[in-house]
Parts: sequence; C-alpha cells; structure tokens
Amino acid sequence: MIEKLLVPTDGSETSRKAAKYAFSLAALSGGSVTLLSVINRDLFIGKPTIPATMTPTHIVESLEDFLRQAAEQDMQELEKLGGQKGVGTRQVIRYGHPVEEIIKEAEREKADLIVMGSHGKSALNAAVLGSVTFGVIHTDTKIPVLIVRRS
Ligand code: ATP
Ligand code: MN
Repeated sequence: MIEKLLVPTDGSETSRKAAKYAFSLAALSGGSVTLLSVINRDLFIGKPTIPATMTPTHIVESLEDFLRQAAEQDMQELEKLGGQKGVGTRQVIRYGHPVEEIIKEAEREKADLIVMGSHGKSALNAAVLGSVTFGVIHTDTKIPVLIVRRS
C-alpha cells in the first residue's frame, strides 16, 4: 500500500531525518522513494529584495547554479543512505514555489505518502511548524502526509 514515497528535501537535518524514516518504511513495504528539491526563485528575486527586472540574468543564473549543485549533492548523499537499506531512489529538481511543486509532483507520480520534516533550514525555529509543511498539509489533496519531528 505504501509503495511510492515522496520526500521533499531542503538539505536540512530534519529533512534528512524524514528521508531516513521514509527509507525504513520503503524497506518494509518493498517500495521506492522520490527525493524532491525545489529551488525557490522568490528567495532571491522579487519585492523584498531586488526587483526581478533589476536583477542581472547572469546573477540569477549563477545563484540558481549554486542552489542546484547544493540540492544535487544533498540528494546524492540521501540516495546513498537509501542504498544502504536496499531502497531505490529517484531524484527530482523543480523550480518554483515549494508547496505547489511538492503537491504537483506527488499527484503526478501518484505518491502513496509524502514524508517531510516539521522544520527545515530556516533559522526561525520558534514556529511550531515550518511554512512549507504547513502549506502542504493545508492543501486540498488526498495524498497523506507524514511529518517527522526535528530532534
Ligand atoms: P520556514 O521556511 O517556514 O521559515 P523551516 O525552514 O524551518 O521554516 P520548512 O521550510 O517548512 O520549515 O521545512 C519543513 C520541511 O519541508 C523540510 O524538512 C523539507 O522536508 C520540506 N522543504 C522545505 N523547503 C523545501 C524545498 N525548497 N524543497 C523541498 N522540500 C522542502
Ligand atoms: Mn524553509
């Protein structure tokens, strides 16, 4: 029943914990895991920082390159952890709004379960729940979500 698991990851400790949890579940069910990193352009262009029209293309591109490489490296490490448990993984990178892309990918691949962290990379650790996780559980979808708490 839980064969296709989707793990959205931002490279944080808690998302690593979520990935490990998902690998254990997938090992039990004989399932596989899709790792998804969403690169969020809004973080470095747009209203609060530099207007998009004033951001030189080469700067946007090199920032995106940097973020993509970091995401690839993170997912590579997670894939190794999955391999140690005999779980096959697929790596996906998307550009856009994390909540939207997570839901889109989950529905596209008909995931049985989304496994994600309660928190992520943000330094604002006072919140009960990170905004990406909050957004995912408040989106109208039939796909269940399992939230792994931070240590
Ligand atoms: P906030 O971003 O709201 O200030 P936060 O960083 O602590 O707080 P979230 O961003 O909601 O919390 O992170 C919670 C979980 O959401 C992470 O553990 C990860 O599973 C997932 N996540 C967060 N950002 C991304 C992203 N860009 N791509 C994929 N998954 C993400
Ligand atoms: Mn975050």
